[in-house]
Amino acid sequence: MQTCELLIIGSGPAGTSAAIYAARSGIETKLIGCRPKYAGEYDIDNYYGFPETISGKELQKRGLQQAERFGVEADCDRALAVHVLDNNRFRVKTETREIEACALLLATGVSRTKPGISNLSDYEGKGVSYCVSCDGFFVRGRPVMVLGEGNFAANQAFELMDYTDKVTICTQGKAVGMHHEYLDRLAQSGIEVIEQKIVRLTGDPALEEVVFEDDERRAVEGLFIAQGQASSSDFAYTLGLERDGVFIKADNEQNTSMPGVFAAGDCTGGFLQISVAVGEGAKAAKSAIEYVKRNCR
Ligand code: FAD
Repeated sequence: MQTCELLIIGSGPAGTSAAIYAARSGIETKLIGCRPKYAGEYDIDNYYGFPETISGKELQKRGLQQAERFGVEADCDRALAVHVLDNNRFRVKTETREIEACALLLATGVSRTKPGISNLSDYEGKGVSYCVSCDGFFVRGRPVMVLGEGNFAANQAFELMDYTDKVTICTQGKAVGMHHEYLDRLAQSGIEVIEQKIVRLTGDPALEEVVFEDDERRAVEGLFIAQGQASSSDFAYTLGLERDGVFIKADNEQNTSMPGVFAAGDCTGGFLQISVAVGEGAKAAKSAIEYVKRNCR
């Protein structure tokens, strides 16, 4: 188990800016996240200080180098699940390890993945869930399905095994994108992975069946959405943070509704721009620094 004072999830402009401020003030800071979406060969023409323009890739590289100069440990790693412990610290399971942190800063950007199931929203709270630790209990012993193709989905399936052994993963028509170790563990746990696409849900008053593209049906009483990588909304659901749609609610100092959890950048909504993310990252770091000094030392 690794530990740190502040764990920042997301290495885009918000998370990296926060890491620079936190580490510079002497906070033991880890930063996890892989290549942010803007970090390609796109010209960033509206960011302060680059009259000749700069590519997203170069801006990102420079930000990370600056953070590392102040001692930030930055790794390309993905958080799969976040849990709050009895002592109010946070345990984050990633693809490669577990990290325990005193404070958590969410800067995971905004996820736009949509499952493409016509009547999904009709069943939210009636079998469709975005949070295993919130709703796994309600499907004890029942047949359930996790919708997703990657390691995040696999991890959700493992967590569901605490409640029921009738767990299947459906990739929603995508190719399986899980690491070999996860596939081996899924096979050992008897969790089937199917590559079909669900188009519709049925059941009254709650979910009873999923209907695939070829009209085949499967009895399912819980459908847990876990496509792509875990997003800020997934962490918000698990931690019980206040949300505004897909965005995390944060005040002017980037405090979320839970002490010790801060959020910055696109995941909090508003004007989705690099300059805003960098500014919010700085404010979130300031709040996190004060929290760590008061509560973690
Ligand atoms: P992001 O940059 O989205 O970074 C999110 C980070 O979180 C990434 O590192 C990601 O890997 C990580 N992450 C997500 N989930 C997990 C997880 N489960 N575990 C670990 N890490 C995770 N803005 C401008 O101001 N000017 C522009 O010219 C401009 N051009 C753009 C061009 C493109 C192609 C795109 C996509 C965006 C552009 N934007 C531009 C918008 C800008 O990129 C965003 O507003 C900004 O990047 C938001 O920063 P962020 O740090 O909040 O999130």
